Parts: sequence; structure tokens; C-alpha cells
Amino acid sequence: MSAVTAIKEEEIRPDDLFSKFMDLSANDAKNFFDQEKFVDVACPACGSATTTSNGFEKFGFCYAHCDRCGSIYASPRPSPEELLRYYAESASQRFWSEKILKQTEKKRKQSIILPALERVDNIIKNIVGKTPQRILDVGAANGTFLSEWKSRHLEAQLIAIEPGAKAAQKCRDQGMSVFEGFVEDEAEKGEAQGDLVTCFEVLEHVQNPERFTKALCEVTAPGGVAIISCLGVDGFDIQLLWEKSRSIMPPYHLNFLSKQGMEIIFTKAGFNKVNILTPGRLDVQIVQKSIERGISLELSRFEKLLLSRGEETLQAFQKFLANNALSSHVWIVCYKN
Ligand SMILES: [Zn+2]
Repeated sequence: MSAVTAIKEEEIRPDDLFSKFMDLSANDAKNFFDQEKFVDVACPACGSATTTSNGFEKFGFCYAHCDRCGSIYASPRPSPEELLRYYAESASQRFWSEKILKQTEKKRKQSIILPALERVDNIIKNIVGKTPQRILDVGAANGTFLSEWKSRHLEAQLIAIEPGAKAAQKCRDQGMSVFEGFVEDEAEKGEAQGDLVTCFEVLEHVQNPERFTKALCEVTAPGGVAIISCLGVDGFDIQLLWEKSRSIMPPYHLNFLSKQGMEIIFTKAGFNKVNILTPGRLDVQIVQKSIERGISLELSRFEKLLLSRGEETLQAFQKFLANNALSSHVWIVCYKN
């Protein structure tokens, strides 16, 4: 049985710390930026500028709902420079890295990184079918994923793309090849190449998803595969909670692409085949916890009935969501010829 079955939202987002982080983020979102410098964008997935009436405002940010592919995205949004300044200087980001990441480091390894490793391993064995030599992790942080990969695949060559100076140094200390910068810039230089490219939970944050996905394709060697995880709008919890979802948090999460939107953008980026998997296990639990927290939701009669059923039914329902690309925890497997 995989370690992921025991995952609880609380373990990776301890409630008291996470509430404090939410408050700081809300405050930052409203006060940090000069909104005059914001830029309007069309749907980052399909390029359409037509939106539905389901858009909403959250903490001073407007989110649009694409009429064509169903993605939701912040527009207008901070310029790339403003976003960099945010990640370097904001109180909420400081709290995230100094308090939450530190306090949950062990749990995150157990609940997030090791299950991710197992999943990548399974995808490689069962779907891709050939063992990659060069593993390139985009946004490698301290290199935990790569070093764990190496412990299972001794022959692997490890490559990290990581913009943070301290984290990049930690990767170097572990003997990895490190490109200290953003993948968009490293792709232009043309030196970083992986037979397997991984990128966990970055896509929802990036200012320009089109440029970002193109860069992911460029750093994927011909014949290679890129495996990307992110949050998606088609997930049960996001669809039900919508603007009340704690995942929709500006300016951190700017892009929630739909399955269709992901297929469009990764194909446009240059990949030859794109598979969307949603192995999420938390959607139902997140909705239940939101209701427990007192969030008012207008649920349909059927949704109320469903949520009133016991654990067994809800677990079966969560499996159904995962098997039908209806969970918000998305894995995208992209092949390059
Ligand atoms: Zn769209």
C-alpha cells in the first residue's frame, strides 16, 4: 500500500499555521502591489478572451472563467517583475518558507515527495516503458526529490533548475548539476536537457504559462517525457467551493487550467502527446472540512445527499473522481518525439 493513502490535509497544511498564512496572503494580495502595474491577460491555456459570468474577485484580484476551455485565471495580474518582488519580499512568502515549510518538512517528504516519487516511478514503468538517464527537476528546491530518485536509481544523472540561491547551493552540495535560474531563461540558453523532466506544483504560480510550458518542452530531450503536477479547475473541490476554495489564493495561484486547457497549452508548447491523470485523494475531504469550518455553500439536493453518506461511499466517490479526471490534483504526462 502506498504511503499516500494516509494523507490528510491537516498534515501538510496545519490548520493554525495555514490560517495565519491565509490572513497574511489576503493582506499582501490587497496591499503589496501597485495595481496600476497589473497587466490584462487572455486565457493562459487556450488564448480566448471571452469569459463567462462565473468570474469573481478574491482579495482584490479578479479571476476570469474562460468561456472556451473552462480554465480560471487571474486577470489583470502582476507583471513578472512585480511577482518576483513579491516572492522575495512579501510577509506571507516569508512566513511560508520560515514557518510552514520548516515545520512541515518531514511530513511533506512523507506525504508529498515520496508518494510523488512512487507515482513518477509507476508512470515511467507502466506507461512510458523506458528508464530515463538524465532526470531534470524544475523548481528543484533543496533537491529532495532528486536525491530520493537517486537512492532508487543509482545510475541516474541529476539535474536541478532552481532560482533560489540557497536551495541551488544545497543541490550542488549533493553533487547535482545545477542551473541556477528560471526554466524560461535556462531553456533559451539551451544547455539544460532531461530525458525525464519533472515539475511539481509550479504551473499554477507562473506569470506566463505559455512561455513556461514552451520552456518545459525545450528542456525535454527528444524521445523524453515531462511529468508535471498542478492544481486544476475541473476538480470536485474547486468546482464546489469556487471562490471560497482555499486553493484559490492570489497572487500565489494565478492559473487553474481545465483538462481541455492543459491539453491545448502543452500541445501548443510542442509536446506530441499529452495525458492528464488526476490521482487526487483530498477533494471530498477538503469540501467536508470547508463545511465544518462554517463556509456557506449552496449545494444541490444530490450533493447534500452524497455528502451525508458514510465514509465507504465517499471513498468510492473520491476514487471515481480520481479515475475520471475530476480531482483537482492533476498530473500531466507529456511526450516529446
Ligand atoms: Zn481557455
